[in-house]
Amino acid sequence: MNLQMVDLRGQYQHIKEEIDTAVLQVIDSTAFINGPQVKQFSDNLEQYLGVKHVIPCANGTDALQIALMALGLQPGDEVIVPCFTYVATAEVIALLQLKPVMTEVDPVTFNLTAELFEKAITPRTKAVVPVHLFGQCADMEPILAVARKHNIFVIEDTAQAIGADYTFSDGTVKKAGTMGDIGCTSFFPSKNLGCYGDGGALFTNDSDLFQKIKMIANHGQAVKYHHEVVGVNSRLDTIQAVILDIKLKHLDSYARARNTAAAYYDKALGQLDWISIPARQHNSTHVFHQYTLRLTDPADRDKLKAHLEAQKVPAMVYYPIALHLQQAFKTKAFGPGDFPVSEMLCSQVISLPIHTELTDEQLDFIVNAVLSFKR
Ligand SMILES: *Cc1c(COP(=O)(O)O)cnc(C)c1O
Repeated sequence: MNLQMVDLRGQYQHIKEEIDTAVLQVIDSTAFINGPQVKQFSDNLEQYLGVKHVIPCANGTDALQIALMALGLQPGDEVIVPCFTYVATAEVIALLQLKPVMTEVDPVTFNLTAELFEKAITPRTKAVVPVHLFGQCADMEPILAVARKHNIFVIEDTAQAIGADYTFSDGTVKKAGTMGDIGCTSFFPSKNLGCYGDGGALFTNDSDLFQKIKMIANHGQAVKYHHEVVGVNSRLDTIQAVILDIKLKHLDSYARARNTAAAYYDKALGQLDWISIPARQHNSTHVFHQYTLRLTDPADRDKLKAHLEAQKVPAMVYYPIALHLQQAFKTKAFGPGDFPVSEMLCSQVISLPIHTELTDEQLDFIVNAVLSFKR
């Protein structure tokens, strides 16, 4: 059985004709950069997300960097970021001479909480970057309330949760990435909405931020050759835009397929006392970018991974090292033991294959491989 963490080829086979035609059309038009399809995709994504502005860019890391640049922060300003996330979230903060202030995450949802966020606030805190890790929204309503109270910008890192819905206590439903000041996403191939190369985007409902973001992403110019600020060159190319526009139509059905696979795993593994299946938050849907188990005993984790790999079942550890313990982010302020929950998660988590093409036969094989593990 040929199992992969993500089956991009299988997914492509279902939409091959449409994709091939659209890509060849772009090549034939030679409008490789800023072709009309880039705007068309942005418009369609705005509609889907219910957000006023989508600004496409070159990748998710650029999106985060551009978002921070648009806020007009000063060197040394503090940006709060969970330490259990992908490195990109914190990297761009340091790159811009801002100060990443790491925080702990919730052991059940793996996400930042309002309490943890509020504890990390100082007079220099200017922004917070909640990450909707593995496909489920951080609990945004209280996070937004704390941010408002302290006048702090909110940049959502929704690279893993595009399409997830968050329900506020008044019943309002919003998409991940559209609740804070700016949302950032990645279209890396393995993301839930992935292109066939690199891509990313920013979302905002604020028209001033929209103008700034557009300008920064385009060499700091609103009018050609008039550079008002120091910007970057970060674009989504036309070929990626047509691919994304086709895949966007399938995004909800892709999320359903991921949820079906997750439910299968839940049912088969939910009774085991040495495994915790992923928790579902009552006010967020889950789009299962990852299906991440926690093993009660960290000693089991690496043994299970080896056991699965011996049966050709891929499994990955997202993430093995918390950011505050990474060489690149070492400061005197934080060391081992400072964020025990995140450090514990790094030793306990293991992600099983999850994607849009998993068959019952494959799921059964994976589940049996887990169940045959002798502790
Ligand atoms: C993938 C990812 C990014 C970065 O996206 P790229 O397109 O690879 O630059 C940022 N944050 C999180 C949480 C991610 O998963």
